[in-house]
Amino acid sequence: MQYKVAIIGAGPAGYFAAQALQNLQNEDRTFAIDLIERLPTPWGLVRSGVAPDHPKIKTVAKVFEKIAADPNFRLFANVEIGAEITVAQLAEKYDAVVIATGSSLGKKLGIAGEDLYGSMSAADFVPWYNAHPDFADLEVPLNCGTAVVIGAGNVAMDVARMLALDPSELDSTDTADHAIDAFKRSTVRDVYISARRGPEHAAFTSPELRELAKLEHTNVIIAREDIEEAISRAGDAPKKEVKSNLDAMALLADNEKTSHDRTMHFLFQHTPKEILGSNLVEGIVYSTPKGEVTIKCGLVITAIGYHAASIDGVYDENGKVINVEGRVKDNIYVVGWAKRGPSGVIGTNKSDAAAVMELLISDLKSPKSNGNITDLLSNQRVVDQSGWQRINLAEIAAGDPLGKPRVKIVNYSELVTAALKRI
Ligand code: NAP
Repeated sequence: MQYKVAIIGAGPAGYFAAQALQNLQNEDRTFAIDLIERLPTPWGLVRSGVAPDHPKIKTVAKVFEKIAADPNFRLFANVEIGAEITVAQLAEKYDAVVIATGSSLGKKLGIAGEDLYGSMSAADFVPWYNAHPDFADLEVPLNCGTAVVIGAGNVAMDVARMLALDPSELDSTDTADHAIDAFKRSTVRDVYISARRGPEHAAFTSPELRELAKLEHTNVIIAREDIEEAISRAGDAPKKEVKSNLDAMALLADNEKTSHDRTMHFLFQHTPKEILGSNLVEGIVYSTPKGEVTIKCGLVITAIGYHAASIDGVYDENGKVINVEGRVKDNIYVVGWAKRGPSGVIGTNKSDAAAVMELLISDLKSPKSNGNITDLLSNQRVVDQSGWQRINLAEIAAGDPLGKPRVKIVNYSELVTAALKRI
């Protein structure tokens, strides 16, 4: 018997859900999978989230393309669910619907000055430098001397590193052309990354900390005293990850001092209190154990976590889809960040999706025979798998003479044109 499954969202969680279903096929049970994506391009955060100077992380895209090569897999990109086509309509046509739409909105600090020009979320800044078509026109004021990044997770680390590295290091990457130009014109030379708690609570991971020592044109400053205090607070038997992080930070603190003109500074126990400025960001005030501290800056980027954008009213107030172990209601399921919130690395989605697909299979009844998404499409210019492959090849070909993995097409209509272009 063949069952039809629609997966909404072509990021890592969506692909790993498809892969789990493919792996769970047997002589009696196969799956016809339709992967639906709002953008004309798939791969989700692997395309628009992962930092461009981390190309190794993006090699997981090869796994996605292998999943997509299955004859029972179809891609419907450039199709938005929730506007013209609803989740309920899909649930009626398919044996199961899997929501894999992630968490795309940045959490807010809720402090004065957060809406000033020059204050923005990593949820906007990261897709801007990664050529996401919705963020190409974002105005990022890089004409100041100092930028501040709030948060002590890997997203904050990516953002701070992108601001603090020498932009020539991005020439061989797939950073959006508009962002490379802007970084080359940038006058930012000091980047502060601030954590509201001590180093022992930082959510960075140690490989990301260790690689900072390899930045060729950037000083990295961590106060030795902050790390020593954290080591003593963490006690005799800190968790493995905490120890590994503290070791990595101690190495950075001990690093021989360099005198590049770009510097990344770590601040701990700095809780943001207010962003200063009348029209533009002019500074930020922190509460610290030693009293208030003000840093003059022209750009503040918050990287304090994400919540999900609502689709068809299925999200709860915490920015996740209401679910019990991935079951939403009827034949609707959820995987990835939309299910569990914005945590874990790309690979975390593999086991997470596999567990939910097991549940989905245990709920299956007799296969439905009342059509699929093609009955619901009207004016959408669908980018299918071969259309996406044309975009992919065009981008790779454009990058080749420049020594880049690809030059991303940024504009919606240019993406759709590239998808339709026969070579
Ligand atoms: P995260 O790891 O949850 O870090 C969020 C940070 O924001 C925490 O340090 C948190 O501090 C801080 N924060 C939250 N609310 C705050 C507030 N009101 N004021 C000040 N600070 C606040 O989230 P993320 O950095 O967005 O990353 C999401 C996931 O993607 C993580 O699992 C991450 O590891 C993963 N990721 C991995 C990579 C990689 O592998 N290279 C790259 C990017 C992202 P508290 O702890 O004090 O709440």
